[in-house]
Amino acid sequence: MFTASEIRSTFLKFMESKGHTIVASSPVVPGDDPTLLFTNAGMNQFKDVFLGFDKRPYKRATTSQKCVRAGGKHNDLENVGYTARHHTFFEMLGNFSFGDYFKRDAIKNAWELLTQHFMLPPEKLWVTVYAEDDEAYDIWNKEVGVPAERIVRIGDNKGARYASDNFWMMGDTGPCGPCSEIFYDHGEDVAGGPPGSPDEDGDRYIEIWNLVFMQFNRDEKGEMHPLPRPSVDTGMGLERISAVLQHVHSNYDIDLFQNLMRAVVKAVEEAGGENVDPNSPSVKVIADHIRACTFIIADGILPGNEGRSYVLRRIARRGMRHGFKLGARDLFFSKLVKAVAKEMGDQYPETRNPHIEEVLRQEEVRFSQTLAKGLDILNEALADGTKVLGGDVAFKLHDTYGFPVDLTADVCRERGVTVDFEGFDAAMEKQREKARATGKFKMAQGLEYEGSPTEFLGYETLAVHACRVEAIYKD
Ligand code: ATP
Ligand code: MG
Ligand code: MG
Ligand code: MG
Repeated sequence: MFTASEIRSTFLKFMESKGHTIVASSPVVPGDDPTLLFTNAGMNQFKDVFLGFDKRPYKRATTSQKCVRAGGKHNDLENVGYTARHHTFFEMLGNFSFGDYFKRDAIKNAWELLTQHFMLPPEKLWVTVYAEDDEAYDIWNKEVGVPAERIVRIGDNKGARYASDNFWMMGDTGPCGPCSEIFYDHGEDVAGGPPGSPDEDGDRYIEIWNLVFMQFNRDEKGEMHPLPRPSVDTGMGLERISAVLQHVHSNYDIDLFQNLMRAVVKAVEEAGGENVDPNSPSVKVIADHIRACTFIIADGILPGNEGRSYVLRRIARRGMRHGFKLGARDLFFSKLVKAVAKEMGDQYPETRNPHIEEVLRQEEVRFSQTLAKGLDILNEALADGTKVLGGDVAFKLHDTYGFPVDLTADVCRERGVTVDFEGFDAAMEKQREKARATGKFKMAQGLEYEGSPTEFLGYETLAVHACRVEAIYKD
């Protein structure tokens, strides 16, 4: 059986044998790109090469790229723990052609790797192509031999939640082009429909690999100009292909995650949790979030209230809250950094920096005070035996004390109390209007936010602002 680590090296060596130079992952924090919150795809570090502003000594490259999708246009934060395939932090295996090979070789290489090296049965693989891309369709159908029943033409499908969209754009402007995606059928015992069908959001047919054919440069007016030399950018999630090759249906069942999840259960139980269910969404969330936090801090970000720092804080606190939900009443989250380093330190030695655990420990101490304070306020509000918690109280907890509303709802549920969410939303909206009226300001890193620079706007409001940061993908 392939381990995740062997899959990574098999991919890179295969692409090397096809003339690609192995290039190291860039940091999850993009160096000089204010349009991007975190690195969200392998192509990010080659953006300027595709645009023609930068030249490299190679025309073909391959990477295993550290990615974070927890803000901007690619935000998978809320999916984590609840779908079998989304992480906040994941590794993207990719191969790139800078004006060298194009559709035919991209498709044939991908197929060769999957069917002859990873030995996947062809009948388990489905492909999608952009609706009008007859060229890609014909390569798949006539040259590779994928039958028409398993090739789906997809346009700008905006229906389903994770709807396939086979025209890839770098942003509002820049290189773009049709893409072709490869899906794996996890079998009848998993719910979900094939790509392009109304129930494609399920976990049966999982997208494993996206092949982007960069063909145009889109200008400010939205006009497409053919690139002089068409290029290729591909991305395959390491955790997703690992699930396939390890014959499991969820990313959380692969070797790497199972080891991490065992460490999570142990740490939570040592902190006071009892009989923790090793397969609960909370355990998955914690295992996912500790990886993201470890890598983001390793690349130089500290928890805070703005931009990237805020996103880091949000991920960390979400992880801690899930531990609390499982019964942890003592520090546990920061202690898990070692488990991440154990799993990933060989490939990513930066995870072994002792500074990471210390930063998270301080954040955990701070948040445990927030939790304690929030619980006091909540206890007081519920002392008179009320069965509905006022939206204003929930909002005050959230806004002033950083006590997340979903935690408020959890605690209330345990006591048979409901939360007045309408009142909460109304208070939030009032706050937003106030913030808008206070004016605009520019935050560090050139990100433009609305609101007063002196007033703490509350986590959700900040998250909404953080999401305005343009990611370079259209998703
Ligand atoms: P999905 O539709 O499943 O959300 P996507 O279309 O957003 O995926 P792409 O932007 O095409 O994903 O990224 C290329 C590949 O990276 C995907 O085919 C998948 O294997 C992997 N990938 C994308 N998002 C995630 C994630 N949140 N966690 C793990 N792997 C991911
Ligand atoms: Mg997605
Ligand atoms: Mg997709
Ligand atoms: Mg995709």
